[in-house]
This record gives sequence, C-alpha cells and structure tokens, in this order.
Amino acid sequence: MTDRKDEIAANMARVEQRIAEACAAAGRPREEVTLIVVTKTYPASDVRVLAELGVRHVAENRDQDAAPKAAACSDLPLTWHFVGQLQTNKVRSVAGYADVVQSVDRSKLVTALSREAVRRGRELGCLLQVALDAGESGRGERGGVAPGGIEELAALVAAAPGLRLDGLMTVAPLTGEYAGRQRAAFGRLMDLSTDLRRAHPAANMVSAGMSADLEEAVAAGATHVRVGTAVLGVRPGLG
Ligand SMILES: *Cc1c(COP(=O)(O)O)cnc(C)c1O
Repeated sequence: MTDRKDEIAANMARVEQRIAEACAAAGRPREEVTLIVVTKTYPASDVRVLAELGVRHVAENRDQDAAPKAAACSDLPLTWHFVGQLQTNKVRSVAGYADVVQSVDRSKLVTALSREAVRRGRELGCLLQVALDAGESGRGERGGVAPGGIEELAALVAAAPGLRLDGLMTVAPLTGEYAGRQRAAFGRLMDLSTDLRRAHPAANMVSAGMSADLEEAVAAGATHVRVGTAVLGVRPGLG
C-alpha cells in the first residue's frame, strides 16, 4: 500500500470504531448508520483510495471541485452526495453527477433540480437542509430552511418530477439557541424527521454529524454521518 492509502486506512479504522461504539452505546445496530466521506478539497486519487477501502458514499460541497472529480471517478461504484449551498446556475452541472442533493432549502432550487433531472432522465434524491439557527421562519446563516418551512418544501419536492424526497439534513449551528449544543440540535432534527415521516413515510434519511460530533448524531438517531477531516486530514485553508 502507498503511504497515503495506509494513512487513510488507519483513519477509516478509527472512524469506523467511533461509529461502532456510538451505535453500541445507543443500542442501535451498526447497519443503521451510513458513513459518507466528505472529499471536498481532496484529489480524485483519494476518492479512488476510499473506494478501494470499501467506501460507497462520498460528498462534495463546491461544484467547481466536484464536477471534474466525479468525472475522473465515474468508473467507481460510488454514490455522490452534494452537501454545499447550491446556486441555481450550478444545478445543471450538479444534476449530472450527484445522486443525492442534501442542501435543498428553497422552492427555486426544487424547480431547477426537477427540470434538470427530467431533462437528463435521472432521479435525484433530495434532503431538505434544515437551519436550526434560523428561528421558525427565514433562512440559516449557512443556508437551510427554517423548521416552519419544511412541510411546504417537502410537499414541493414530493410532487416534483424527477425528484425523490429522502429526508432531512442539518449542520450543527454555530449561533442561536443550539450553538454548542449538538445533542439538542440533532434531537430537534429527529423530532422534525418524525413529523416529516407522518406525511412522507419513505423520507427516512437523517443526515447529521461530522468529524467532531458524529457520536452525538448517532446517539440522536442519525442514519447518515458526513465525515471529512477525521478520514482525510485537516483541510488546507477554507472548505
Ligand atoms: C465539510 C463538511 C462536512 C465534514 O466536516 P468535517 O468536520 O471535516 O468532518 C460535513 N458536512 C458538510 C455540509 C460539510 O460542508
């Protein structure tokens, strides 16, 4: 193995152990939690290593980086998640490689994603990104729909051709009543998921938790954790 592959394999083993321990502590079967490795800022060669190590889900947050990387890795058996704030002028590109868009937070985006999915004959999975720092209405600092807007947006996605409503996603807020209270934030997301599933039983994905707080997310009931740094290392600069 190359040094880089050794390094990633060792990190993966540690992350896997953390997830397994968090599942055990919560009395949940390990299979209930899917690891998504966030590959933003890291090269296609790392994505290839991850696939060799058995990773099946990767996530990106900027189309400029993601599009060429996904193209370079199109031979790999990977599900690509888009987790960044998404401008409608990037939808054309993103819909070409993303299997799941986790950052759906407004009706204009639903319309654009639906049109592009239909044009390409693809079905796109959609998670509504929930802003827990936005109050009941309005939008979050880093995107996301306020809890009060979930029902309406979910109905739009569910009715949109080419789109599949898969569930909810959040990023633990840095401001507002949930700042520094990951467990409470993820608990709130779970309650919102329970409400959502009354009208949309199949929308059972709950994407929460990153390198620093995956244990809290698993404890709360997350089905998907998004881990970057703990697998690939500290990213240089922003990202
Ligand atoms: C970067 C990112 C992650 C991963 O964060 P780490 O702290 O590196 O694990 C998860 N979710 C989103 C939306 C991200 O942008």
